[in-house]
Amino acid sequence: MRIALYGSRGKVGVVLEPALLAAGHAVVDGREAGPDGCDAAVDFTRPDAVVANVDRCLAAGVPVVIGTTGFDFGALNVRAKEAGVPCFHAPNFAQGAVLMMRFAEEAAKAFPRAEIVELHSEAKRDAPSGTAKATAARMGTDPTIHSVRLPGLVAHQEVIFGGPGETLTIRHDTTSREAFVPGVRLALEKVRELPPGLTVGLDALL
Ligand code: NAP
Repeated sequence: MRIALYGSRGKVGVVLEPALLAAGHAVVDGREAGPDGCDAAVDFTRPDAVVANVDRCLAAGVPVVIGTTGFDFGALNVRAKEAGVPCFHAPNFAQGAVLMMRFAEEAAKAFPRAEIVELHSEAKRDAPSGTAKATAARMGTDPTIHSVRLPGLVAHQEVIFGGPGETLTIRHDTTSREAFVPGVRLALEKVRELPPGLTVGLDALL
């Protein structure tokens, strides 16, 4: 595939671009070349840049895989539907994070009291993280979310459940941004088969 990558010089982009090239894709810099002539686009930029990038792709009829977090899903879903273009977003492309959310949803049935602690690099702009918000939505118990931003961290989350005389902790650690590559590649393979509009969550592709 020919892929327009937005955010190629960012912390995720510098890991993603060589992995996509190694998988046999042609990759162009979305900011410099635009999406015209591409089969799909990927955006790992920033909350205040993603919407304009996706709008350019929608105008060009190019499906988009969105990794950037902290944007308005609802508005983008409406515009992608109107444009007749499929888009996909996962708040977390790491396989272990998908399992963490699934396990937390299950545990919440037995433990209604829980809190989430999400820890990310100091450069992360949005808080709480998209993963923490998605986990809370799946648990359905309105857990308090605590956000930690410090140097030395990549992406980490604990969901701590408390009941009489016991606690249960589910923890996921992303130690390298390589963790996001398989999920992004899967989304790129599947995005063109999705219905127009925004599909959210890797579970929808598995
Ligand atoms: P980062 O290191 O800050 O990189 C962002 C990159 O986007 C920078 O190179 C920046 O370039 C570029 N950029 C800014 N505006 C742009 C525009 N209008 N068009 C094209 N490129 C633009 O951030 P990151 O750690 O790679 O993360 C990027 C986003 O992905 C964040 O929202 C983060 O929360 C999210 N994320 C999601 C997942 C997931 O699994 N869903 C995983 C990790 C990160 P300049 O500095 O030159 O402007």
